[in-house]
Amino acid sequence: MHCPFCGANETKVVDSRLVAEGQQIRRRRECVACHERFTTYEIAELLMPKVIKSDGSRQPFDDEKLRGGIQRALEKRPVSVEDVEACLNRIKHRLRATGERELPSRQVGEVTMAELRKLDEVAYVRFASVYRSFQDINEFREEIERMSLRDGVDNGTD
Ligand SMILES: [Zn+2]
Repeated sequence: MHCPFCGANETKVVDSRLVAEGQQIRRRRECVACHERFTTYEIAELLMPKVIKSDGSRQPFDDEKLRGGIQRALEKRPVSVEDVEACLNRIKHRLRATGERELPSRQVGEVTMAELRKLDEVAYVRFASVYRSFQDINEFREEIERMSLRDGVDNGTD
């Protein structure tokens, strides 16, 4: 690892510890030439399957997009950042565990919903309604119509 300050190629590790629940190693390094210190993070490279979109195109798995979707669903819910990260890790673990190099986006959505359901029921319903409205808008609309129809009948009998 070259020194980012002077470019010397000899640096020594002055401190090393596990962070992010043991998923990363944080190292403090010192340049032998200029004595500047800097930090590196080491993380195991585990390849995520690519995502097959409904139009057939393939996209790299987007960690931030998934996190964003989950965070939106969890807005104002009493769920800690740590629980969210653990949930994300479980989702990614399950997707990797399929052993597939490519997965349909629908499957990514299903796994996400299953894990979100265990985390927070309200977030699950929010996520599912947004997700389904994109995936299968007609089916979702029918579901809503059935629900409102049922409510209408209930109100009528009151
Ligand atoms: Zn240096």
